[in-house]
Amino acid sequence: MQQPVKGKFYAEVVLPLALPGTFTYHVPEELQHIQVGQRVVVQFGKQRIYSAIVWKTGADIVPSFETKAIMSQVDELPIITPFQMELWQWMADYYVCTLGEIMAAALPAALKLQSETMIRLHPDYLQDSLLLDEKEFLVTEALHDKTELSIADVSKMLSVKQVMPVIKSMLSRNIIEVAEEVVDKYKPRIVSFVKLTEKALDDDFMQQAMENMERRSPKQLDLLLFFMRMKQDENAEVIARSLLLKRSKSSSAVLQGLVKKGIVEIKEQASDRQSLLEFNEVLPPLNLNEGQLQCMSEIETAFVSKKTVLLHGVTSSGKTEVYIHLLQKAINEGKQALYLVPEIALTTQVITRLRKHFGSRLLVYHSRFSDNERVETWNKVLAHKAEDNDGQVIIGARSAVFLPLSNPGIIIVDEEHDNSYKQDEPSPRYHARDTAVWIASVSGADILLGSATPSLESYYNALAGKYILSSLNTRFGEMVMPQVVIVDVKDAYKRKQMHSHFSVKLLEMMKQSLDKGEQVILFQNRRGFAPVLECKICSWVPHCINCDVSLTLHKQKEELRCHYCGYTTNPPTSCNACGSADLRMKGFGTEKIEEELQLLMPGAKVARLDHDTAKSRRSFHQIITDFDNGDIDVLVGTQMVTKGLDFEKVSLVGILNADQLLNFPDFRAHERAFQLMEQVSGRAGRKNVPGKVVIQTYHPDDVILKYVLNHNYKGFYNHELVERSKYNYPPYYRLVECTIKHKEEREVERAAKLFAKELIEVFGNRVLGPTHPNVSRIRNLYIRQILIKLERKLSIATVKKRLQKSVDFYRKEPENKRVILQIDVDPQ
Ligand code: ADP
Ligand code: ZN
Ligand code: ZN
Repeated sequence: MQQPVKGKFYAEVVLPLALPGTFTYHVPEELQHIQVGQRVVVQFGKQRIYSAIVWKTGADIVPSFETKAIMSQVDELPIITPFQMELWQWMADYYVCTLGEIMAAALPAALKLQSETMIRLHPDYLQDSLLLDEKEFLVTEALHDKTELSIADVSKMLSVKQVMPVIKSMLSRNIIEVAEEVVDKYKPRIVSFVKLTEKALDDDFMQQAMENMERRSPKQLDLLLFFMRMKQDENAEVIARSLLLKRSKSSSAVLQGLVKKGIVEIKEQASDRQSLLEFNEVLPPLNLNEGQLQCMSEIETAFVSKKTVLLHGVTSSGKTEVYIHLLQKAINEGKQALYLVPEIALTTQVITRLRKHFGSRLLVYHSRFSDNERVETWNKVLAHKAEDNDGQVIIGARSAVFLPLSNPGIIIVDEEHDNSYKQDEPSPRYHARDTAVWIASVSGADILLGSATPSLESYYNALAGKYILSSLNTRFGEMVMPQVVIVDVKDAYKRKQMHSHFSVKLLEMMKQSLDKGEQVILFQNRRGFAPVLECKICSWVPHCINCDVSLTLHKQKEELRCHYCGYTTNPPTSCNACGSADLRMKGFGTEKIEEELQLLMPGAKVARLDHDTAKSRRSFHQIITDFDNGDIDVLVGTQMVTKGLDFEKVSLVGILNADQLLNFPDFRAHERAFQLMEQVSGRAGRKNVPGKVVIQTYHPDDVILKYVLNHNYKGFYNHELVERSKYNYPPYYRLVECTIKHKEEREVERAAKLFAKELIEVFGNRVLGPTHPNVSRIRNLYIRQILIKLERKLSIATVKKRLQKSVDFYRKEPENKRVILQIDVDPQ
């Protein structure tokens, strides 16, 4: 062992890699001021450089091997706070993963630069070379030639020492951006807005212009007055041109007249970029009704005693308005308020709703925004200073729990039951709600979980006194809960009351709604056309070549597709086994519903919202906006249509196949099914029009359906709790799911048995398996699972330490090196 060199100073850093632990480097003289949480450049392996996070410094670090030196620092100051370091450590322990994996999940790409990171010119960069120094000029020139460069390439042009600071500076000035591999980035739509001109702010000018118009061009005057009214109603400086023309029923020629007179101007802007929209004075929150006020007081009392609050409010009861009041209170005290929502609920709709009240104090942290924008939000959160007394509201999805909050006043987790809060892949397999609860308990922030259909765990915690429960039992504004009708499909087929997948009842009710100018949502939680193609003679079914699943037919693209690995192939015209041309489709997906509707209701404007359309045909936001504006009559969709959306004119929701939800082989299937059905029902009858729900099923007597019928959450909860207790599932037990994968079945068997044996030595009969999961081969990897069921009274810390030991033991075996082992704590 090498003695530490006298006077030498070491640092431990974290790299964004799955390797365990931290890495030790020595700190050169000129960098001895570096602080923990700061980024530095280090070399790792032979060639690669990384921006790493300094985790620990000091003379007491004694490396047992020769160390490399830190090359340079990237920033002047830390980019994460000591509190976050504590959070990362907790997460690594709790979720049995490495700090590097947490780092990779926590930071936007531009904050974890490495050799392979690709950069390109920022689309907004105006090529003004005067703004560049010599090195930056070199980089931009090279990017003109090559479009994309890796940091390794740039470091060859400059020097390894200089590359990171140069890149960082260019990133922060929007000269370059990190080129992300993910193609599905959200591109803000460019929208034309109408805005008053500078001149029009002058009262005399306006007076004169209006008088003239009254005589000569009354249509223009009408439009102008309409515009002013709309501006006031929306509390906005600008109005979208298309919306103005549509609502006012005016023409673009009339609008052009106003432009010519210099009264209004038309500007193009990205529709929801954070910085661009201009707003008037922000509006105060709405006055709460009695029920909401009661909730507010219960919540605030609970906060005094530092308790987590669960707000159980039926759909459309006005939970969001309560959140807005709480967020307002926090920022009035100059604090940071974090508002978490499920990823796909993070739409323009909810952002606009908050923007009205919080204006530019609202920050958005959205994985579909560009990386530069995410870094911008990160830096604004980091720069927040309690002394400035200037609060911030941050709305974000799962990964927003990683933002460097220094002064959190409140965290609100909306739709806390939603499983998109849990990250499945890659590690860290963390739950953002549970992480938020930890953050609040350690930082002293208030925390509120809200849902119309709370997770069993949270409701259990509330009834057990660990959380405080507050409830809103009625919809806002005297709206009644939607009326649910259950249609027995088997019976309907017998009586010839089915048109393909639609019952006559559903079709009748759809027609009634559409005739009244109302809208309809149809829910089928399966995309594609038909999930199975089967030979009528010998029952052969086409399967994925990489996975152990049947292929889904996508008719529009004329292909069979695997929903696990993305493999596609042409649909066969005859059976591969017996040659028969008699192939039939079994089951149905959203695509088929959309097609059938066009035949059954030729007049209706139908659109589809699922993974396929939201990605390729039209973006998710576009579809939502069109539906909101009434350009779509019937929206067919997967669970994407269930999440937190607020449409005024939806009076009917149809659930086409409830059985598919209820029969899923998973201990959470009933909970999921109840939540999905109750949530999608909740989209009906939110304002003015009473709502109705039609549920089609082969099992009309299913007990879960009874609870949906009566919107009886508590009944459902009590029923389900008995089941969970019987079979040792959460909330009574904690689960850890271990997944073992390898491309050879024999190897995966061997490794799974070995790991199970190791676990049984520690945890005894709490260990179940190894078993074959429902889909036991994905992407050419065979899969086995081991489940550990742990009593709640066991100490989490001890359990995790023991588990980590078993994992370390397993990973040390050379023959296990190639076998993937994944640990999922609290699997969803
Ligand atoms: P939830 O979040 O529980 O689904 P929302 O907060 O979206 O419910 O409220 C449902 C509808 O009622 C929304 O359109 C909302 O604007 C309206 N609303 C709720 N509370 C109030 C209030 N206090 N004053 C006026 N409108 C309200
Ligand atoms: Zn596949
Ligand atoms: Zn056949």
